[in-house]
Amino acid sequence: MLRMEEQKQQMERTTRTEQMEEIKEILHGVRLLDPQTDSDTVVDVAVGESEILWIRESLGEPSGLWLLPGLVDMHVHLRTPGYESAETLETGLRAAIAGGVTCIGMMPNTSPPLDTLNAVLGVKEAGESFKLASIEPVPCVTMNRGGKKCVDLEKFASSGITSFSDDGSPVENDEALLDAFHRISSFNGVVIEHPEVSAMAAGGAVNLGRASIETGAQGIPESAEYLDVERCISVLRESGGKARLHLTHLSSPESIRLAHKASMEGLRVTCDVTPHHIALNEESVIALGSIAKMNPPLRSEESRRKVVEMIADGKVSAIASDHAPHTIDKKDLPLPVAAFGITGLETLLSITVSTLSVEAGMAPLEIVRLLTSSPAAVLNIKPPEIAAGKTLNMVLFDPSLEWTYSRTFSSSSNTPFIGRKLTGKVLRVWFRRELFREGEFV
Ligand SMILES: [Zn+2]
Repeated sequence: MLRMEEQKQQMERTTRTEQMEEIKEILHGVRLLDPQTDSDTVVDVAVGESEILWIRESLGEPSGLWLLPGLVDMHVHLRTPGYESAETLETGLRAAIAGGVTCIGMMPNTSPPLDTLNAVLGVKEAGESFKLASIEPVPCVTMNRGGKKCVDLEKFASSGITSFSDDGSPVENDEALLDAFHRISSFNGVVIEHPEVSAMAAGGAVNLGRASIETGAQGIPESAEYLDVERCISVLRESGGKARLHLTHLSSPESIRLAHKASMEGLRVTCDVTPHHIALNEESVIALGSIAKMNPPLRSEESRRKVVEMIADGKVSAIASDHAPHTIDKKDLPLPVAAFGITGLETLLSITVSTLSVEAGMAPLEIVRLLTSSPAAVLNIKPPEIAAGKTLNMVLFDPSLEWTYSRTFSSSSNTPFIGRKLTGKVLRVWFRRELFREGEFV
């Protein structure tokens, strides 16, 4: 009898400690935007040390602030191993948190490239020891990104890693791509293709058209992108169509049209676009030079507008930063020889929201979907969610605050947005606990 009583007391104690973290604070009148639960309501949220305690309808004044799940940025270059002078794991993950990104898709074009399970798990573990953002590895499709022989895809899958990319370059060898599609079908894997016909893009630096005429640098046509999109879709169809293909950083409306058409046909094709391709056009590279050099290049205003429209029409699955840090000595060079790419983790949310809501009139919840649950689905990972009892993984964002982007946590600052006035700012970030508050790490 006594024993039973003891057990009961013991149980009550455990339940109490498990259930009741102390309330650290209550966020009043925040607009909860959670695509996972389809919520777009003004609520009060009780926040504990590590979890959400309760969410209630707010009866007070709305604060005007948004509370959204931690962002999933499916395309990030952390530069480790090999290029640590441009970014270390720690600085990259700090930049992620400062931008509200709590999960990053880590691209494999490091030196050496991430093509073995040991190497990938090593970097993931080293990164996660900082207890900042979590890392979802995206290893190479082919050994050494050589484009010939596929990596041991099944071995990765047995460790729960199911997304692969040779990003930086396309998988141009049809045989290798077909082999990858056949093998990833059994575990719901995805090939993330950097679509490019290498021979057409070789030597190019800017968009073919006004930018190439004005700068004198060699142009890269949109067809260098969409012809590869077309080829990958054909190979996917040839494979039986069960595998998933994701086309990353699309810059051409024709590429998005082809990807969408394939998905309508029943093929499992998705795509993403970067914030810079929707916010900037080729005038930026004409005016600013190498700091706005990226691959694919910034396109014409007409193409940019069409891409924005297609996103608003639901034809794109994700917005991803393609955060690509470079040291000044690689970037501050004439257009033909400067490195491609810009940093983007810290400006991802501001630029995406201000472009898609102001210009395209997209609903905030739909914009948040492109940055959270939808890329999580592409990467085949659990989407972040804001609900009572869940571990903290959320961002407090002021959509109307104007600020100047002058300080970065990244080791590199190669972005045309540095020094610019932006609208919409990440105020606070919680991931497992509170990590970032008003510009500083907690
Ligand atoms: Zn790429």
